[in-house]
Amino acid sequence: MTVKFPQPGELEAIETASRDEISALQLERLKWSLRHAYDNVPFHRKAFDDKGVHPDDLKTLGDLSKFPFMTKNALRDNYPFGLFAVPREQVLRLHASSGTTGKSIVVGYTAQDIDNWANLVARSIRAAGGRKGDMLHNAYGYGMFTGGLGAHYGAERLGCTVVPMSGGQTEKQVAQILDFQPQIIMVTPSYSLVIAEEFERLGIKPDDISLKVGIFGAEPWGEGMRAEIERKLGIDAIDIYGLTEVMGPGVACECIESKDGPVIWEDHFYPEIINPDTGEVVADGEDGELVFTSLTKQAFPVIRYRTRDLTRLLPPTSRAFRRMGKITGRSDDMLIVRGVNVFPSQIEEQILRDKRLSGNYQVLLTRDGPLDNLEVRCEVQREISATLSQDLIASIAKELQHHIKTNVGVSTRVTVMPFEGIPRTVTGKARRVIDERPKLV
Ligand code: ADP
Repeated sequence: MTVKFPQPGELEAIETASRDEISALQLERLKWSLRHAYDNVPFHRKAFDDKGVHPDDLKTLGDLSKFPFMTKNALRDNYPFGLFAVPREQVLRLHASSGTTGKSIVVGYTAQDIDNWANLVARSIRAAGGRKGDMLHNAYGYGMFTGGLGAHYGAERLGCTVVPMSGGQTEKQVAQILDFQPQIIMVTPSYSLVIAEEFERLGIKPDDISLKVGIFGAEPWGEGMRAEIERKLGIDAIDIYGLTEVMGPGVACECIESKDGPVIWEDHFYPEIINPDTGEVVADGEDGELVFTSLTKQAFPVIRYRTRDLTRLLPPTSRAFRRMGKITGRSDDMLIVRGVNVFPSQIEEQILRDKRLSGNYQVLLTRDGPLDNLEVRCEVQREISATLSQDLIASIAKELQHHIKTNVGVSTRVTVMPFEGIPRTVTGKARRVIDERPKLV
């Protein structure tokens, strides 16, 4: 690596600005964003009107708490382009993420949005210790998912040589790293350990791997995993956070000099933490659900978007902006399996397609080495239960596995049981998800 810690003049002025300067910029941008959403998106106009608020009511940053929340349902109900605030012709790119049911949710970006996104990912890579001239191996998936292209544009913006490897093909990933000698890798933390295992299998020691920094996100990971990744790959492991609805990767990123939680790029995203039950804003430092309002987004503004991620806001350290703590959980039932977002309702939808199945099911999550395993247990209808053959079990399982893979995007093991094979609860409320993955430390 050329440089690790930021040298004088390397940071953008706003990264070291005073709190007053940051607040003034946020207030100016927030006013614009509320007005932009209200004037151009019927959904926002109606939500503001229903709550009896108007963009002009925002005089201070604290006034934002009077405005309505936005949830993932808004994206589902306005699928595909109903929340866009500019004509479709001005949208240069679409991306998608998991919806709670079969249809994905769709977001869009103008040229300016893509430019801002590239700048923020470039800022993130720089915070992680990357510099112009470094080579960056990008193992985030390319495609509708924001990870691949988000990282790619940011790395190019910083002036890195990008290897657009995408996910999978572990042996090829490792061969390419050995041949090209990149200094930086961007990948999900769990997959980085699969790559590390392949290096181990080849007998290559961490000191002999060219990588110096890894930038990991898209799924929760703890300090225990950070230590393991750092040891096995001989790198500094940095946490990057983001979500499709708000932009993609690069909403927040850790700094290599402190590694104390992702710094939120507060000049573009205004964070709040709320009590997920009451919706009340809680003080910095208190646990709750993270909510974002976009300050500069043109195509897809979000106003008080409920991320469902549980965390807290922490005071600034290496930059002038506040940080977020580790994500400790979710306030909805979304599961993250090998970096893919999965809602149990999406799996249920696929099960209900097969009339031979009763609709009762359970999702069992376990961890095998670094990777998550997802098993779907379902049962056949009473009528066919008595004559259930091994052949029928195998064919139902194969079909369901295929439907889940193609529609939800995850590989599963499917177990087909006789009728009433899934335990009924006394309360009648089904226990759909059993998560046996070890808790993060
Ligand atoms: P991403 O490309 O970041 O996975 P998605 O929109 O598919 O974008 O998923 C966003 C969700 O992924 C977040 O709401 C959060 O639950 C999870 N996530 C993203 N980055 C992190 C991270 N660094 N730590 C923990 N969870 C993360």
